[in-house]
Amino acid sequence: MKKVGFIYDDIFLLHEMPLGHPESKERLIAITSALKQTDFWSKLIHLKPKRAKKEDILAVHTNSYYEKVIKFTGYYDADTFISTGSVEAAHYAAGAVLKAIDTCMTGDLDRAFCAVRPPGHHAEPNRAMGFCIFNNVAIGARYAQKLGYKKVFIIDFDVHHGNGTQHIFEEDNTVYYFSTHQSPHYPGTGADGERGREKGIGYTYNIPMHYGSGDKDYFSAFHDFLPTLVREFSPDIILVSAGYDLHANDPLAGIRVTNEGISSIVKSIIQCRSGIPSIFCLEGGYNLVSLSESVILTVKELLYYE
Ligand SMILES: [Zn+2]
Repeated sequence: MKKVGFIYDDIFLLHEMPLGHPESKERLIAITSALKQTDFWSKLIHLKPKRAKKEDILAVHTNSYYEKVIKFTGYYDADTFISTGSVEAAHYAAGAVLKAIDTCMTGDLDRAFCAVRPPGHHAEPNRAMGFCIFNNVAIGARYAQKLGYKKVFIIDFDVHHGNGTQHIFEEDNTVYYFSTHQSPHYPGTGADGERGREKGIGYTYNIPMHYGSGDKDYFSAFHDFLPTLVREFSPDIILVSAGYDLHANDPLAGIRVTNEGISSIVKSIIQCRSGIPSIFCLEGGYNLVSLSESVILTVKELLYYE
């Protein structure tokens, strides 16, 4: 059994949404209460996130955006709502990834799951977007590099393309960004031909999936393509934008991945390069039952899959 961290804090529930918003605190309540009813709960190493420092956040966001958002309440864009507790929660959501990295660094964890909100992968350097305030995984990638994990491989299986993460690292050859996502779909980026820019050319890899794609298409992406890319890049750490809105039951998308497909994706990620930390960070997933089941399946593979 692997040493697997579960990083969570009730502070994430203080990110309050208007009634009917899909990115609700009920998501984390559903995940934690379902996980507590399994044997896996007692096998996990439970950790609290730390609060990301301003300097950690400014490694990927602009100072003017940071100063603006910490004072902001209300709708930042058509679907990104910021309540009085949201920005504090966002500091801890990024800090959860940092805590996981710290604890992997000391050897006390092999793998981790960060059960956080707000999510992060749509957040651009200079703005909140798509339910996201700070780009948790991107902040984690820069922090990991500061600690000595020189090459970071980011895998994003959320059904939406992680425009923010891609843009932050698209000119960088030390952080690889790999994404599968429904296309055409929100946010409209992530075409096959987007492969990075300048010295980052070749370090971005998008696999757009048509509406109705399912386990077989994802099996091909994660078992035929991903392992070679990871092997060639030879990363020191893997960070995962784990969005479960690719599930067949999700109300916000049209991809048909089943529970079995989720397990297969997680196994492939773990298998790609054993011996380096893999840190999963929650992004989307809006059917509460399927979201909870998907996280349980993820945690199971993190614990037991070699
Ligand atoms: Zn999503």
